[in-house]
Amino acid sequence: MGILLRGVRTHNLKDLTVEFPRYRLIVVTGVSGSGKSSLVYDTLYAEGQRRYAETFSTYARQFLQSLERPDLDGLEGLSPVIAMEQHRFNHNPRSTLGTTTQIYDYLRLLYSRIAEPYSASGQKLTRYTPEELVALLREKFGGHQIRILAPIVRARKGHYREDLQKLLKKGYDHMRIDGEWYDLSTGIPTLDRNKIHDIEVLIDTLDPGRSHEGLQRAVHLALKLGKRSLYVAEKGAPTLWAYSLDYVDPETGQSFDEPQPNTFSHNSPYGACPTCKGLGSVKVLRTEELFPDPTLPAREALAPAREDSEVLVFWQNLLHRHQLPYDLPWGKVPPEKQKALVWGAAEEGQFFLEKEDEPVVPIRWHKPTSLWEYLQIAYYEERSPRWLENYLAAQTCPACHGRRLKPESLAFRIGGCSIGDLGLMELSELSRWLEEVPEELSPPSPPNWGRAFSGGASAREIPGAGRAGVPVSLPASFQPIRWGSPAGSPGSAAGHRPDRGGLHP
Ligand SMILES: [Zn+2]
Repeated sequence: MGILLRGVRTHNLKDLTVEFPRYRLIVVTGVSGSGKSSLVYDTLYAEGQRRYAETFSTYARQFLQSLERPDLDGLEGLSPVIAMEQHRFNHNPRSTLGTTTQIYDYLRLLYSRIAEPYSASGQKLTRYTPEELVALLREKFGGHQIRILAPIVRARKGHYREDLQKLLKKGYDHMRIDGEWYDLSTGIPTLDRNKIHDIEVLIDTLDPGRSHEGLQRAVHLALKLGKRSLYVAEKGAPTLWAYSLDYVDPETGQSFDEPQPNTFSHNSPYGACPTCKGLGSVKVLRTEELFPDPTLPAREALAPAREDSEVLVFWQNLLHRHQLPYDLPWGKVPPEKQKALVWGAAEEGQFFLEKEDEPVVPIRWHKPTSLWEYLQIAYYEERSPRWLENYLAAQTCPACHGRRLKPESLAFRIGGCSIGDLGLMELSELSRWLEEVPEELSPPSPPNWGRAFSGGASAREIPGAGRAGVPVSLPASFQPIRWGSPAGSPGSAAGHRPDRGGLHP
């Protein structure tokens, strides 16, 4: 016998009698308001709960909310019940399948523990303690004459005259400036203040295999003068070796702080891409939609001016200020005039940031001098005009390419991937990555050893790895799911969420 409900009158149900067979997956369907939830949740489940509560002692029951008996004549064959209710996502462009399922949080933790930074050109960066550096230089360059240099200026503009004078006064006379050697005692070179320069000071020339104390002294001095970085040049060889107590990109001078889980959060100012504020996309103007018919007179060619009289007034004024006749067809307006009207002083192809609860930039122009300025004001207004959305298109953020994080965060990689790369993967790819990455992890270099393993996090152990595996076993029709995309957007959570009353994986 199945589960028999007789004479159900919960809410708007009209004396319904129904029997559900056991050991079957049963789907209750119907149009909105037909009573699906009344039958399943408010009758079947409610009665199951009520009967369960009755099994408690009178004493225990006084602490429970009294459960009302659903309006029905009889219910037979009911076993204990559980209900899994649909999980409602809030439609926030910041939520992703990754953040709502916490997969992303585990990955952030993993990245903050074992990811390593790479330079802009793809070199793995390493950091050392002073003692490790001394040992390393002795082992690597012992038996050779090397120059130990302290980097003073890295990829920055300026003439640096005073800095060079100060160094000379302190007794440092040999410099490497933009790759050339100079002896300052014979004169200070004039540097072009508008050009980018690299300056290193020569600390000592020695054979690290011979003079231990000399090496120690030079390393400490170079690290002090070079603000925790030093360079080594083999005599007669062009290569410069960069070493640092911190993670530093020797080409750009960019240093990387010890990463924290926040470093990898697009919801935190410590991690978010400054261009798109961590949303991964920006909004661009669809200029072709703004002027769909170039044969129309300039006054009528602007599409939103036909929908909104305020726009029309502004547009007429703008044409007037530019001394353009209203009836000149828009297509006949010279391109540079068109650009001046639409973009003004702004660069063509500017974009809006994705709108958030908080206005992104407080804009207070007294009088917009271009259509772009006018639309920007309208866009960031508390209630932007409804027509505006029709002229905007979402575009992948040009700075982070959809990876949502700032460059310093994306420089950290595991197995060749930044955490932003993972966000662009489909779930099946992510699952594969999590399977494969433990084998790819190189044994950390000695200074990182403790850091890598003391945290106890490894890809194999993190629960997120298992979680990422769950949705992959969904039917193929649910694929692809970009787990890093907004939870409310098609192709992500919303795409595999059944309608009302459904279960969510
Ligand atoms: Zn961005």
